[in-house]
Amino acid sequence: MAVQSVESSTTPSASGAFGPAVALSCRECGERFELGPIFACEACFGPLEVAYELPAGDPEGLRRRIEAGPNSIWRYAPLLPVPADVADLPSLHPGFTQLVKADNLARELGVTGELHIKDDSGNPTHSFKDRVVAIAVQAARTFGFTTLSCSSTGNLAGAVGAAAARAGFRSCVFIPHDLEAGKVVMAAVYGGELVGIEGTYDDVNRFCSELIGDPAGEGWGFVNVNLRPYYGEGSKTLAYEICEQLGWRLPDQIVVPIASGSQLTKIDKGLKELIAIGLVEDRPYKIFGAQAEGCSPVSAAFKAGHDVVRPQKPRTIAKSLAIGNPADGPYVLDIARRTGGAVEDVNDEQIVDAIKLLARTEGIFAETAGGVTVGVTKKLIEDGLLDPSLTTVVLNTGDGLKTLDAVAPTTGPSAIIRPTLDSFREAGLA
Ligand SMILES: *Cc1c(COP(=O)(O)O)cnc(C)c1O
Ligand SMILES: [Zn+2]
Repeated sequence: MAVQSVESSTTPSASGAFGPAVALSCRECGERFELGPIFACEACFGPLEVAYELPAGDPEGLRRRIEAGPNSIWRYAPLLPVPADVADLPSLHPGFTQLVKADNLARELGVTGELHIKDDSGNPTHSFKDRVVAIAVQAARTFGFTTLSCSSTGNLAGAVGAAAARAGFRSCVFIPHDLEAGKVVMAAVYGGELVGIEGTYDDVNRFCSELIGDPAGEGWGFVNVNLRPYYGEGSKTLAYEICEQLGWRLPDQIVVPIASGSQLTKIDKGLKELIAIGLVEDRPYKIFGAQAEGCSPVSAAFKAGHDVVRPQKPRTIAKSLAIGNPADGPYVLDIARRTGGAVEDVNDEQIVDAIKLLARTEGIFAETAGGVTVGVTKKLIEDGLLDPSLTTVVLNTGDGLKTLDAVAPTTGPSAIIRPTLDSFREAGLA
């Protein structure tokens, strides 16, 4: 890998808006492009990703610098497409969420090794999306966009609304009209425009692609469309944090939810970078993908041994993961197969059971996406695909308060009583 210290004055990009990032490169054909608001290769239409000259030669120095940095994703600024002074710019300062050692859950699942929950419900808008949006906002500022937008399954809309409010952008975000109340209110409360579209997420996404090519969308930065290469890089910070919180060590196994598949592919990219830089010891790791049965195009392709992902029409309570035509699906299949992981799915009932299991054992109230990862972890252990004697990290990417409907029908007060001791005794609770 081409390496150069980011502090070297001979690296022109190091002092610039994109830090150590030097180009966009095509994930299919490798063609390189200048850093700009583009997302598809001119030669082959493949997706673009950010390429770097990462800091090298002094991993100890870099580690000290990271550890002395702010308690947010900005501590990893030397590895992200952001300016060196990014922490001083207006943002929600997401990240540095808890890695919870889940001993109670481990016992229930028969895990004898270490089990951790990376709890990203602790982000400013209570989902992992604050990470990706924070990076996209920096790029939007550099490219001179004035409106921030996105197609969203719910959490992204709230994250964009909040980040736009903080950073002084107008926002206009698009969601399927039938999302959970918690997601809709969260997307609207920050004062930007919120548009519900009569259709699925895949319809919403298609609409946004049309809007980008239209004069009506001029000056608009769609964080997950024309800013997608930058957006994706935010998910690398999950990999960085997990390794740092494990004492600069790779987990053996990691269970990641899949919507578009971006998060999973960038976690892999982040782990590979830490190995290349020398911040963690190079050891094998396995990445497992988790989907809901009612929207499991990647899991279905994995099990069938296919390289292509056949689109599905979503029907699941895990609405944040309900992308029937996932853009990064084929890359997820590559990574799961290359690392020796798997992609698995669980049904709605198993999702609800897993939400309650995590809450009961660890005091973490996950949204349906967290029910998917915990449920899939249980299934993978039962099927012998995940080794219970190793160090495993399971992602919880969102907050249960946003998906109350999933558990409300089967969760509630143990009793309703009169305010008397007799009444309490009669209820059998003494
Ligand atoms: C968006 C989202 C994901 C994953 O999204 P990708 O498109 O696969 O990157 C996971 N969990 C939650 C809660 C989300 O909102
Ligand atoms: Zn290409």
